[in-house]
Amino acid sequence: MMDSMFHLSKTNSIRPIAETGVLPVPSGCVVFPGFCDVHVHFREPGFSYKETIASGTAAAARGGYTDVCTMPNLNPVPDSLASLAVQEELIASQARVRVHPYGAITKGERGEALSDMEAMASRVVAFSDDGRGVQSDSMMRQAMLEAKRLGKLIVAHCEDNSLLRGGYIHDGTYAMAHGHAGICSESEWGQIKRDLDLVRETGCGYHVCHISTKESVALIRQAKREGLDVSCETGPHYLVLDENDLQEDGRFKMNPPLRSPEDREALVEGILDGTIDMIATDHAPHSAEEKAKGLEGSAFGIVGLETAFPVLYTKLVRSGILSLDKLMDLLAYNPRKRFSIPLREDDYSVWDLETPYEINPADFRTLGRATPFAGWKVYGTCLGTVCQGRVVYQKTM
Ligand SMILES: [Zn+2]
Repeated sequence: MMDSMFHLSKTNSIRPIAETGVLPVPSGCVVFPGFCDVHVHFREPGFSYKETIASGTAAAARGGYTDVCTMPNLNPVPDSLASLAVQEELIASQARVRVHPYGAITKGERGEALSDMEAMASRVVAFSDDGRGVQSDSMMRQAMLEAKRLGKLIVAHCEDNSLLRGGYIHDGTYAMAHGHAGICSESEWGQIKRDLDLVRETGCGYHVCHISTKESVALIRQAKREGLDVSCETGPHYLVLDENDLQEDGRFKMNPPLRSPEDREALVEGILDGTIDMIATDHAPHSAEEKAKGLEGSAFGIVGLETAFPVLYTKLVRSGILSLDKLMDLLAYNPRKRFSIPLREDDYSVWDLETPYEINPADFRTLGRATPFAGWKVYGTCLGTVCQGRVVYQKTM
């Protein structure tokens, strides 16, 4: 049994995987620690036509994830114990992997008054208003002071609404050539810059969601050099796609948007030098109808849990840019360290890394189908996932 285990490590010596024998590990296949995604949207309560806790966690399991953190843009928004309890009940009865909810920073994610952060603190992984930026400087300052007092991270979706001007893809060459309204890079990095000043002032632990611009990478690199308590994530799509890959199709529309090739290269550099701590999918399912309205009319968001590893492994590891060890840090170990989410030794997945296949959204467990990776030829098939010793996904042969 030991021979079939994947020994990730030279650089990371503690790899506590107990391959328990509940799943077959065919020869030549590898065993990975349970992945941890700190940024998913499972849409329940409130929007179960897009995704449910059941379908979202089934997708997570199929992607090799045993822990996921759910963003609070729900209905009701988890901004008090009572509204958080609605989601907690669904998680308790429906989830097949561990789900860690975020609490909202502000009531209703409206940016006007703080949520009941203190009451929720022990039951949420961190605080976020993901889906929108906290526009008011003084509101973000208050939130950071309260999060610091409670010993929790502020997890920021950085977006300055005053700079959006109706944009929906990157304000770059593709938008210009095809007559689309662009979202400038500053709408992201401008708010990161503001927040970093507030971190200097308050000493709050701070994590930036889905960074997409080269300026964001530079700002966070500098903040880390200063010793600020700062971390960040980017998504698989920002590392392997840019505006040159855009098609007139809603499955290429997400927020932040696919940026320029220079931005993409800066993100890869940020991964390699440790400026970017982790990769999170921002798994954001919508109905087929909501994604069928082209770049302009479709909802923002793509699904990601079932394609993250195969896409990253194929494009970054097999091509020699990243080691598999480093990819495990980005998908499994670093997010757990930063968000204090333990890895149990009976949390793992089994993968075939040698058989190529085409990504087909019809195979997905998520209710969402919109992915820019449809039709991509990739390596990395999850044969099964074990969470707390229980088989939560097994590929039918
Ligand atoms: Zn976001």
